Amino acid sequence: MENDPKQTVLIVDDEVSNLLALNKILSSDYAVFFAKSGEEALSMVADNPPDLILLDVVMPNMNGFDMLVKLKHNLDTADIPVVFITGMNDEASEKHGFASGAVDYIIKPFSGTIVKARVDKHMQLARKMRLNEALGRTDTLTGMPNRRAFDEHADREWKRCIRDQLQISFLMIDIDRFNIYNDTYGHAQGDALLKTVAQIFTSAVQRPSDLAARIGGEEFGVLLLDTHLEGALLVAEKIRADVSAAWAPGVYGGALASVTVSIGVASGIPRPGDSFSDFYAQADANLYVAKEQGRNRIFSRH
Ligand code: GH3
Ligand code: MG
Ligand code: MG
Repeated sequence: MENDPKQTVLIVDDEVSNLLALNKILSSDYAVFFAKSGEEALSMVADNPPDLILLDVVMPNMNGFDMLVKLKHNLDTADIPVVFITGMNDEASEKHGFASGAVDYIIKPFSGTIVKARVDKHMQLARKMRLNEALGRTDTLTGMPNRRAFDEHADREWKRCIRDQLQISFLMIDIDRFNIYNDTYGHAQGDALLKTVAQIFTSAVQRPSDLAARIGGEEFGVLLLDTHLEGALLVAEKIRADVSAAWAPGVYGGALASVTVSIGVASGIPRPGDSFSDFYAQADANLYVAKEQGRNRIFSRH
């Protein structure tokens, strides 16, 4: 934790003296950014979302309440914790602040010590929340993205491919005769195998927009963006060959039987209205054919 980069706070206030005072309180522990209007703050947040926003209410043009509404309407910014810090000390305003989604409401004139304590608390919560979110998208055995992470990524990229008319390819990978492997060497050895193949799949994808994920017990998915069928088949063949080489006699534990995978491939440029689940089912059907045809192979028919 100590080595983590500093968390960031954006302070929005039209009065420079307030910005300076808050900076003095917070800059020892946080990276502090300033905006002197709601408009300026929104554009800063879009470019570089902070971990927390300290927000004045009364400002010319866009006030703090209106700015919070805009943040909440945008999925990318809706989860950023916002703390109002304002001279509006009536109960109705405070109630409105919380109802609009603020996590806290501090009334001016403020005590530096209390502002710091409250910001510290919200920053701890934000950090914990992010960690939990990351854990909720990670497969505990292999450390790779899990099914939930895969579904979210696929949904986002599928829409992007429809919008920009890009080709998307999907490899569904299943370990051959894994039941026999488990029965022969035990479940723990089976788990170790899953970890090793996971590394092979992860290192097979190169681009930031690509994703290798564990989508089921011993099933893995590789999503390749802006990639045509020929490219996808190259990646699939590399994966197939790397797995089979890792367990060639004498390479992995020597005595263990060879391990292979079968891969079903789907590839195409989706049109508006096309569903990712149909595309997924196509890769699944092709995987089934690869198994039928003898395993340790790749199949792609559309
Ligand atoms: P096929 O070549 O047709 O795929 O044969 P298979 O034996 O691999 O058949 P299937 O895909 O139905 O078998 C899946 C097996 O994977 C059954 C299950 O016990 C095992 N498995 C699923 N998740 C895990 C896991 O987390 N750890 C271990 N060790 N085994 C798992
Ligand atoms: Mg299976
Ligand atoms: Mg299998």
